[in-house]
Amino acid sequence: MVDLANVESVLMKAIVVEPHNADSVRLADIDKPIPSDRQVLLETLCVGIDGTDREINEGVYGDAPEGSDYLVLGHETLAKVNDFGKEVQGFARGDLVVPMVRRPCWENCFNCRVGEVDMCLTGDYYEHGIIKLHGFASEYALSDTDFLVKVPDELEDIAVLLEPLSVAEKAISQVFKVQQRMRWEPQRAFVLGAGPLGLLTTLVLRLKGLEVYCAATRDKESLKADVVRMVGATYVNTTETPFSLVPGKFDLVVEATGNVSVAIESLHLLGSNGVLCFLGVYRDKKACQDFGKVLTNMVLGNRLMFGSVSSSRSHFEAGIRDMVEIRRRYGEVLNKMITAKLELSDFRKAFSPDSDEIKMVVYFK
Ligand code: BGC
Ligand code: ZN
Repeated sequence: MVDLANVESVLMKAIVVEPHNADSVRLADIDKPIPSDRQVLLETLCVGIDGTDREINEGVYGDAPEGSDYLVLGHETLAKVNDFGKEVQGFARGDLVVPMVRRPCWENCFNCRVGEVDMCLTGDYYEHGIIKLHGFASEYALSDTDFLVKVPDELEDIAVLLEPLSVAEKAISQVFKVQQRMRWEPQRAFVLGAGPLGLLTTLVLRLKGLEVYCAATRDKESLKADVVRMVGATYVNTTETPFSLVPGKFDLVVEATGNVSVAIESLHLLGSNGVLCFLGVYRDKKACQDFGKVLTNMVLGNRLMFGSVSSSRSHFEAGIRDMVEIRRRYGEVLNKMITAKLELSDFRKAFSPDSDEIKMVVYFK
């Protein structure tokens, strides 16, 4: 329990940025936070760095908390419970946890109120390390108790991948929900992109028993291609074979490159009754000359396109179950996806990855 009377200000190291200011990422000494009644103080073990963190550092995304001129980065983390406020129940010191990223908006938002923060209606949600809340890339960090997911000790070495995995889990669970619009027995799926999200999506789809293709620009000898093959999926190197030449149509296509030309092209992979899920943030603006044709194709094949973002508790829990199952079926494939384990003093390397890196993780402990 925190004894406020005896707390002195203590400094700790954090990875911070000034949002909207390009290349501002740096290590800073900031005050160690103190949990309020319903908050947990987390001792950060490590943080994964992703495209969103890099975009924030490019100055194109992200917002500091109100009244702060910096934002602590880090929305993918694994932490240990270090302390908690007096109303917190069900957690003990040393528990291994992964915090969810998004927090509800304070408006009259039905979805936020029922715990579907990933489906926030107003768009005024908060996201740790991204939008108006500090993240977890600091020696200690805070989370509201309701947004923590306990992780079994056996997953300690890979649980930093749980947050991105939860984003893949949400997307796939949405796919299966929307496809209840008919009888649907999917056989073939195509995933575009072999970054962490594309690969994790490939894994989740393999667990569902689908035949999965995953396409990216790395060559066939790369680790990304190895990961795809390790789980019994087929890797397509798009610098050799344009993905549009892969024969047959697909019941499900997941676009995880964030490249708008790829996204438009991927429509051609979709068979009748198929569904295309977009996971990228498409910064490039590009006119699609054939939009009428695209729409007609949607109509005449009962096809569906939709976007998916973020995740909530059920998706993190599905992620934990799937991590255990992935390890059972495919061995250490998730460990292999952590391609760089960086000390805090080397954190900058994670902001200019070379294209063979999959997940770069910065360790605080
Ligand atoms: C995070 C999501 C978040 C999204 C948009 C992603 O990197 O994993 O939780 O909703 O960025 O801010
Ligand atoms: Zn909301």
